[in-house]
Amino acid sequence: MSRLGLGEHAKKVAHCPWHHDEHPSFSVFEGDDGFWHYKCFVCDTQGGDEIAFLVKHLGISRREAIKLYLEMAGFPPSRPPKSCEYPQSLASRKFPPSRRSPESPESPECLGYPMSNGQGLDGEVEKELQRLAASNACTERSTAKKRLWKLLRDLRAVDERIGPKLTNRELMPAFDEWHRLSQPFLDPAKTRDGYLAKFFAGLEKVRVPTGDGDTIKKALEGVWKLAPSELPMIPGCENAPESWRRIAALHRELSRLCGNGIYFLSYRDAAKAYDGLSHQSAYTITFALARLGVIKIVRIGDVRPNGRASEFRYLLSETENRVEEDAGFEL
Ligand SMILES: [Zn+2]
Repeated sequence: MSRLGLGEHAKKVAHCPWHHDEHPSFSVFEGDDGFWHYKCFVCDTQGGDEIAFLVKHLGISRREAIKLYLEMAGFPPSRPPKSCEYPQSLASRKFPPSRRSPESPESPECLGYPMSNGQGLDGEVEKELQRLAASNACTERSTAKKRLWKLLRDLRAVDERIGPKLTNRELMPAFDEWHRLSQPFLDPAKTRDGYLAKFFAGLEKVRVPTGDGDTIKKALEGVWKLAPSELPMIPGCENAPESWRRIAALHRELSRLCGNGIYFLSYRDAAKAYDGLSHQSAYTITFALARLGVIKIVRIGDVRPNGRASEFRYLLSETENRVEEDAGFEL
């Protein structure tokens, strides 16, 4: 909770972090199951455990919450040792038997995280590669070079993140998917093998994954130029401080530059969106924006200023935002 900027609420008797709470209604306590639980006598009498807390606070799915929880607990990200052993300390401390059992639909193994199926790529990463292939597929003629390059950068970003290099066998389905979807827009004079060669050759050339310094710099310059009226409106939070809206604008910009896909951003860079912002504040604001539905935290990075960047997806569409602004005018 401290890492979510909610340290002051992590007590037996506290004010609820989710609403105005004159008399402390919120409580954090250790349950019989060995997990920490929360409860609020006003808004959530049933309460829940640490996972449920993340679900409620960030508005994410249970699946995402488990993933995030493991990451916040410092569990080694993604690809796993080939053996199907959970480190004993974590297995016994963090997961009661029901969650560890392979039969349980909520066990981390069944979520493809961080266990491997023993046959290479876990389902989660495989799906991500397919998604990247689809989002970078050509949708018009004469874009193959650009789109393919973007796909390669995205793949390199995944590569970088999961540690051990993606193997050719893991990369092939991504190429196949990209080629299949792009086909109608590809140059008929060029063969699949030709594109395949470009694919692997390009992977060799791509050095810096999506979210590199140049992209961030470009996005920041874009954001600094924006007038306050051009900043995104935060849904349901019309009076949001400019610092929030500048960070939201930075996300919007990065999302645009990355073809509406997933992008990286460190809290140190996020802080640059608004003059005088510390990276800690940027971190807190980022989680607030996630809660408010502006962005989705795809993968949480390191909070330290030089730590690994987090991955995000921008959720507000241009049109939604305009509706929001119009509504503001009517009021
Ligand atoms: Zn409450």
